[in-house]
This record gives sequence, structure tokens and C-alpha cells, in this order.
Amino acid sequence: MLQNRLRKTLLCSASKLRIYSRRQEQQFHQNGVVAMSFVSFSSFSGGVWGRRRVIRESFVDDDVAFHWGRMRSLCCHPCGNNDNINSEKSGGSKNATTTTTFRRKFTSASSDENEQYSFAIVGSGPAGMYAADKLLHMKNSSSSSSSSSSSSSNNVLIDAKVDVYEKECFPYGLVRFGVAPDHQATKNVTNKFDALLRDERVRLFANVKVGSVGNENDDDGEGLRVSTKELLERYSGVVLAHGAADNDRKLQIENEDTLRGVYGARQFVNWYNGLPSAAPMRNKEMHEDIVDRLQNKKNGSNVVIVGVGNVTLDCARILLRSPEELKETDIASHALEALEKANVNSVTIVGRRSVAQAKFSPKELREVLNLPDLDVQIDDLEVTEEDIEEMNASRPRRRAFEVLEKAKKEGAATKSDGDDAKGGTRKILRVLFLRSPTGLLPEDDISSSPSSLGFVKIRKNILQGPTGNRQATLSNDQVRDETILPCDILIRSVGYVGDKLEPNLVPSDKNGTIVHDGLGRVRYNEDSSASATGRLYVCGWAKRGASGVIATNVQCAEETAEAIKEDILNGLLKPAARILPPPPSNTITASKWFKLDAVERGESDREETEEEDVEEKSESNKKALNVRSRKPRTKIVDRDRALAIVRAAAS
Ligand SMILES: Cc1cc2nc3c(=O)[nH]c(=O)nc-3n(C[C@H](O)[C@H](O)[C@H](O)COP(=O)(O)OP(=O)(O)OC[C@H]3O[C@@H](n4cnc5c(N)ncnc54)[C@H](O)[C@@H]3O)c2cc1C
Repeated sequence: MLQNRLRKTLLCSASKLRIYSRRQEQQFHQNGVVAMSFVSFSSFSGGVWGRRRVIRESFVDDDVAFHWGRMRSLCCHPCGNNDNINSEKSGGSKNATTTTTFRRKFTSASSDENEQYSFAIVGSGPAGMYAADKLLHMKNSSSSSSSSSSSSSNNVLIDAKVDVYEKECFPYGLVRFGVAPDHQATKNVTNKFDALLRDERVRLFANVKVGSVGNENDDDGEGLRVSTKELLERYSGVVLAHGAADNDRKLQIENEDTLRGVYGARQFVNWYNGLPSAAPMRNKEMHEDIVDRLQNKKNGSNVVIVGVGNVTLDCARILLRSPEELKETDIASHALEALEKANVNSVTIVGRRSVAQAKFSPKELREVLNLPDLDVQIDDLEVTEEDIEEMNASRPRRRAFEVLEKAKKEGAATKSDGDDAKGGTRKILRVLFLRSPTGLLPEDDISSSPSSLGFVKIRKNILQGPTGNRQATLSNDQVRDETILPCDILIRSVGYVGDKLEPNLVPSDKNGTIVHDGLGRVRYNEDSSASATGRLYVCGWAKRGASGVIATNVQCAEETAEAIKEDILNGLLKPAARILPPPPSNTITASKWFKLDAVERGESDREETEEEDVEEKSESNKKALNVRSRKPRTKIVDRDRALAIVRAAAS
């Protein structure tokens, strides 16, 4: 009798346990849950995973808290969580075997965790991804040289794990949202980054913003937030790699802030590259304004771009290239549609200083100058002795000058008669050196919408100062040296100001560049509460300012990783098991990113969202088109849509 009762009780408990396990596992896959620990949960104060605008109000999403409540009965030890993300990375199988593995792994803490260093990286751009790579390859070479043990202990890999936090739903920063869509080969670097995200030691938490300061480019409202301080509490160290290109530097000229039609290069690039906050769903006003200006000007639209760097050339090329060619790129669909119907008459590039100081790379210059159906006009290419001296000090600048000189000669030979481009499809590319915009004028003084940009005043400059450091100043003869150009869109491309992450904790200069020791150790203000920790590092554009190409970040990340390694070997950093409360379901983990990636590439057999509608069907068509054409991907430009896709995939 007693035996029977005992048997029944045991059977009942076992079946309950099985049901629990299955449900928990399912929830795990739905939520992308990666780590749970009773100890970490109960000792945790403040909202690590707070929704934006509700910072610290709630600990975790309700569904995740519910999930945790169930997990507690199975797991009451602090445990390493990487195994769980592993099962997710390997496809998140939902069979019974995984359930068992899942339970076992959550209930046993790995002793290795005690010796493991963990790092949070803020930003998944090239700098963040290269930093992750370097941190995983740190070797304990210097300690072994002083040890008397055998040579086998030389170059032992330092056991490190990395979590990458990214505020957007999509990783890789400016590789996705900066590099021009017609430069697909440059984006191949993402294959390396994808491989890194498949590494068991790396986790991605995208759609999570670190810090507390919002900025105009943020798609605020949907994403999650965690503070740098909270990261410092959970990791051996934190690497800031959040870039520096959030806001465009302004020209500080009359009417710049009041007329419609004035955009920063970053805004324009975001628009054609499909950054969710610049897409029509989130910024309808900007989209409609750009479309109107590109399509509805009687004599074709005239675009003026101020600045003489490669981003200027990107913007010019996208405006001047044939839409047929753009179709085979990953340009955002809304931008392609706008450009297909656009009627661009001219693009004018304006540089404050002389050709000797232009930052165009010769290759990119050649590419835009050689576009078909283009009349090229280049002004003020005459060079002085100082110019020659400066160009001789920089081979790329010398080459860029030669490319322009050649184009000018060829342009003169084929120059069209009037100012307007000859024939229906020909466009004008003008390059003006030694000129500055001095003010913007409305389209029509007496029109009903005087707030719309119509003209730009341009004045000649003279260069003053020692060779190598000459500065442009406006000519005093306004009457002689000022001209007024028609201008329907003005794009300023004269540099960026980075977003200040957390001014009280992370000191940065006026450009948003983090103050550091020259290698990448963040220097704190004396009154900073974090000054005692010394565990904050920086790399990439956040460290150097907005300069350098993708490859520049390799060496930069290496330098920062070297500083970190040195600090580990000097005992300044302590191992930490990176135990976190479970992230809410709208965190984009690596496996969710791979799902989105497959959908964008048209490789996924499932892209339906919870509510299949007309938009979904047109997406399916795009997917089919992707396969047929050479288009590398159709970018998802809506955060809600991205989240719906990953939710549907998990269910
Ligand atoms: C328009 C443009 C075009 C370019 N084209 C080229 C090119 O063709 N070839 C080339 O070699 N280089 C190009 N570059 C330069 C190259 O993109 C940079 O060298 C490189 O991206 C800098 O890397 P980063 O990681 O420091 O910054 P970013 O690439 O900007 O990455 C920073 C990442 O951090 C994230 N982030 C920011 N704040 C937070 C936060 N608070 N919390 C969490 N995440 C955050 C951002 O969303 C972003 O993903 C281009 C740059 C621009 C601006």
C-alpha cells in the first residue's frame, strides 16, 4: 500500500517535471533566454534590462519573470550560462534530449568559470567585433616567460568570454548603416563577424542600448537599456566601442535649422541604408521631403554636398548612379523606389579648402567621375606652391589631384553648352574648391511655404597660415566672390559629433570622443564614482574620433586588447562569470540575428510574422526576387517587423 502510494507520487512528480522542463525549454527558445541564476537574481538590484523610457521601473519582462519563477525550482546555483546560448546558437532544437541537457547544464556550475575573464563590449561595429576577436585570442605569454615551469605553459590562451551589446536590432554598425550599398565587397567583412558570433564564447544582445542618453538617431521606445555601471558590476571589464558618428556637425549658417531640405550626411546615409529610425515608418516627414525634392522639381533637382571626404562621394554616387545598378545592391527599398523616379539635374560638391587638403580617396573619386551620362565640371583646381608641398607629403592626396585634373581635362573636351545637363538623362557633377556656404535661402520668398530650401549662398575662401596647417577664411569681397546656387537638398558632410554615453561616468571631449590613456584605458574624472574600478576601455571611433576605415579598427582593437591583457597580468582585472538575469524576449541574440539575416537574404523558408498581411506578402515577393536577381539582401528597415519575425520563428 505504502509502496504503491510512493510509486504514484514519484510517477506524478516525474511527469510534472517533464512537463515543466518542456515548457521551460520552449520558453527558453521563445525568449532567447541565456542565463539564469537564483543568486544573481536575488542579489540583483535595479533594472539591468529596463525598457527604454521605463528605466529601472521593472526588473524584466513579465513573461521572463514568469519563466524565471519556474526555473527556480530547477536551478538554485550560480551557473555559467554560455552552454545555454550554445544550444540556441546550434539551432535551438526542441527535442527531449535538449531538454535533459538544458536541465543538467543549468544545475551544475562549471569550475572553469572561476578562472574566466568576461567582457562586455558596447557596440557591434567593426571596433567592437575586432575587440571581441582580440580578447578571445589574448595569450598569457609574459607570465610564462617569468615562470620556471615547462615551455608548454608558454602562450597559454587567457580564458575569456565576451558579450556584445548593440542598440540597434541589427549588428555591425556602419558596415550595415554607413558603407554605401554599391560597395558590397566592403561588407564582406561581416562574414568574419558572423563567424565570431557563432563562437561559443561570444553572445550578442542587440536591441539593447547601453547608457542613459538618447539622441535624435535613436529608434527610442522599443529597445532595452542597461547602464555602463551595471555592466561593470557583472564583467571583468567593459569595452566601449559605440562609434562616433551619431550626429552630423553643423555648418552654423543662416537658416540651416529652419529650412526644410537640409540634411546631415549621416541622416541621408541612414535613409538610403535603411536605419530603422530613418525609415519611412519612423521618419515619414524626412522620407516624404527627400522624395518630393528628388522627384518633383520642374527642372530637375539640384543637390549641394558640403565637404570633401569619401562620405560626400558616397552620397554623390548614390544620387548619380543609375537605379538599374542600385537594384543589385542592398540599398533600402524605400530609397531605391525614390531614386528610380528621381530627376536629379546636378550634384555640387563644395570644399572649404583647396584640392591639396581634400580627403577624397583616389579610387572613390575615379568611381564617381567615371559614372556614365555625367558632365563633370571642376572649379579652382589651380595649385599653388604650398598646395604642391602639401600634396607631396601625402600620396593619396597627390593621386586624388591627378584624378581630378584628368577629369577636368576630359570634362572640358566634352563640356555641354549650358549650365543644365545635356539631354534627358545626363546629369552634372560639379566640384568647387575654396568655397564655403554662407547662408541658405528659401525656395520662393512669396510662396506659401517659404520654409523650403531653394538656394545656397557660396563665397570664395582664401587660405591662411603655415603650409601644412592652412585654414580657410572667407574672402572679404562679398559682391565679387559670392554666388547663389539653386539648391533643393543640402547635405552637410563635414564630420560628426558622437553621442555622449553617460557623461557622469564616461568622460568625453566635446566631439563625444572618450578620454583615454593613449592605449584605450578610459581616464576618469576625479570625482567619478567609477574611478576606483579602472576597468573601462575604449576602441574604434569612440576612441579615435570619426576617422579611419574599417581596417583601421583592427589595430586599434589590438591596442586596446593589449592594454586589457596587461591589466589582467598585473592583477588589475578579476575573473567574472558574466551571470545575468534572463534578457527579455525582444533582445536580438546571435541566433535571432542569423534568422533575420536569412530572411533578408531570401534564404529562409519561414519569414511570416504573427499577423500575415499584405506587407508580409510583398516581402515574400521581395524574397523571391532576391533569389532571382543579384541583390544581396532586402534589408528589414522596421524594428517592429524584425522583432515580429524572430518571435514568429521562435514559436
Ligand atoms: C557613411 C560612412 C561610410 C563609410 N564607408 C566606409 C567604407 O566604404 N569602407 C571603409 O573601410 N570604411 C568606411 N567607413 C568607416 C567605417 O565605417 C568606420 O571606420 C567604422 O565603422 C568605425 O567602427 P566603430 O565600431 O568604431 O563604429 P560604428 O561602426 O559606428 O559602430 C558602433 C556601434 O555601436 C552601436 N552603439 C552606439 N551607441 C550605443 C549604445 N549606447 N549602446 C549600444 N550600442 C551602441 C552602434 O549602433 C553601432 O552599431 C564609413 C563611415 C561612414 C560614416
